[in-house]
Amino acid sequence: MSTPKVAPATEAAAPVLSVNNIEVVYDHVILVLKGVSLEVPRGGIVALLGANGAGKTTTLKAISNLLHAERGEVTKGSILFDGIEVQSMSNDLVRRGCIQVMEGRRAFPHLTIEENLLTGAFTRKDGKSAITQDLERVYAYFPRLRERRGSTAGYTSGGEQQMCVIGRALMSCPKMILLDEPSMGLAPQIVQEIFEIVKDLNVKEGVSFLLAEQNTNMALKYASHGYILENGRVVMDGEARALAANEDVKEFYLGVAGDRRKSFRDVKHYKRRKRWLG
Ligand code: ATP
Repeated sequence: MSTPKVAPATEAAAPVLSVNNIEVVYDHVILVLKGVSLEVPRGGIVALLGANGAGKTTTLKAISNLLHAERGEVTKGSILFDGIEVQSMSNDLVRRGCIQVMEGRRAFPHLTIEENLLTGAFTRKDGKSAITQDLERVYAYFPRLRERRGSTAGYTSGGEQQMCVIGRALMSCPKMILLDEPSMGLAPQIVQEIFEIVKDLNVKEGVSFLLAEQNTNMALKYASHGYILENGRVVMDGEARALAANEDVKEFYLGVAGDRRKSFRDVKHYKRRKRWLG
């Protein structure tokens, strides 16, 4: 393993994550992220917003060093987690406290909920009793998982599987969780329940979150800051409350046209688009 590069000054107030002007290319030619910068303050919840294909998942995978498996590469810029360049950490990132919860609730379907949770502790070396204690801690946050601990994960509900993958991430004792589309395909009530638990983990355990979401409304309720991605660029960022009140955000991401969410593509206001990008 290569020696991690440590940034010169790691002050107490330094962000837990800082992404600086990164560019990501797939297959050597497909430029997907173009100069993306963002920060997650220590103990913060930050939302990464944007439509399908905007580049949210690519950003998270760049941070967690998972692009190689997809023939992707960070070709410019830098990513610091806890003051250390992530690219110099190879597969040490989880042990250092940064873990990604993938889109699509990827629980191991043939394992029980409890077995799934225990797989999350594989990077730990602090012994069985500490792990058992943390399992109890996960069950305290997710009482539904305690009830379903012996059930085969593949036969549990979508909400329970989402809770299971977040619980599994918690078993690695993370400082930060990169959470990809936790609301996808879930009923609003379950989404709310999951976001409440995220908030709880943030407040009580001090876990920082970078939350990639298409559900702008919900994400901005729980985050303190948000970044909006479009076509691989950050087109706007700001305090969550200010973003939720912003006319453009309301129109493009919070507005509803009939029974369907308006998308940026549906909007013909050229002037507004110019203002947005300007
Ligand atoms: P979604 O909500 O659908 O996951 P997203 O905002 O997370 O969207 P990404 O999955 O990061 O977006 O995709 C951004 C762009 O990169 C898309 O145009 C997508 O087609 C492209 N892309 C993603 N993965 C690859 C890959 N492995 N090879 C080539 N292009 C890719």
